[in-house]
Amino acid sequence: MNPLEARLDYPHGDTLPPVGTTLELAPGVRWLRMALPFALDHINLWLLRDRDDDGREGWAIVDCGITNDATRAAWEQVFENELQGLPVLRVIVTHMHPDHIGLAHWLTERWGVRLWISATDWNAARMASTSTTGFGGASAAAFMVSHGLTDPAAVEKIKARSNYYASMVPQVPLRFRRLMHGDVLRIGAHDWHCHAGYGHAPEHISLHCPALGTLISGDMVLPRISTNVSVIDIEPEANPLPLYLDSIARLRPLPEDTLVLPSHGRPFRGLHERIAQLEAHHDERFADVLAACSREPQTAASLLPVLFRRPLDLHQTTFAMGESIAHLHALWLRGQLKREAGADGVFRFRAA
Ligand SMILES: [Zn+2]
Repeated sequence: MNPLEARLDYPHGDTLPPVGTTLELAPGVRWLRMALPFALDHINLWLLRDRDDDGREGWAIVDCGITNDATRAAWEQVFENELQGLPVLRVIVTHMHPDHIGLAHWLTERWGVRLWISATDWNAARMASTSTTGFGGASAAAFMVSHGLTDPAAVEKIKARSNYYASMVPQVPLRFRRLMHGDVLRIGAHDWHCHAGYGHAPEHISLHCPALGTLISGDMVLPRISTNVSVIDIEPEANPLPLYLDSIARLRPLPEDTLVLPSHGRPFRGLHERIAQLEAHHDERFADVLAACSREPQTAASLLPVLFRRPLDLHQTTFAMGESIAHLHALWLRGQLKREAGADGVFRFRAA
């Protein structure tokens, strides 16, 4: 465990629920994990004991896993063994990324229930599942080239990945119920408050239950890795890092002993400590980027070894490029860097 992570408290230690089973974390709050075919090899999902308007008892699902046979099979095991014979009453999705919304269409159809999600993420998911966005395709490849990615093999691979999102999210439910910041959802015996977060996804919704002292943080606060905050091709001048940092700062009023349920890693206590660590992490990265750009003009690609001191596979390189651009844009748009497009069409950033 790294020294920063050691400052967080993991009340369940190293215990993980095996795929297809659940672990109770608080009354009516259950943790399950699904496998992912990436370097980040799992996602946490949640079951909340629920009751519908007609008084019918059942469960709310929070987040879904990607669409593949293994995830569907794991869900069938959960339905068989973990629901105490009760139905699923609704499917809540924190945001539009494939590991979160992938199976929403199958889950909502299988149980005849509604998807609850922010309108922005529902629209973005609908669009991404029928077209190509920052996850791959010619436009994403051209964007990476304009930020200095030159390896022809990597560029070809990004170009070829044109239905990357749709392969994990082939369908998005045609109807949804809108979640907004400040909404209070009655889920079973407890109220859960919606907290919108920006910078990672278009409009990510975290859920906080004051009575249970529990925050479903989604991808906004993770214990071990920093949340991906990327600029992608469809919004080329985006400035997502200040949005992200403002969003996590808005979680500070929640109590320090809040049990945080993240989408990746293990449930932990130490929300304020983790927010401070993430802020310090990005401050260090900003300083590194400024120092590099003061020595000589930099592209997002030339900064990769400065920002990521480890080898990256293609999946990680596309995320890393997006993050490198996000750090450059935050400094550019606050006036600390100047951006210049070279004769080669590549953006370079130098100290202002
Ligand atoms: Zn995400």
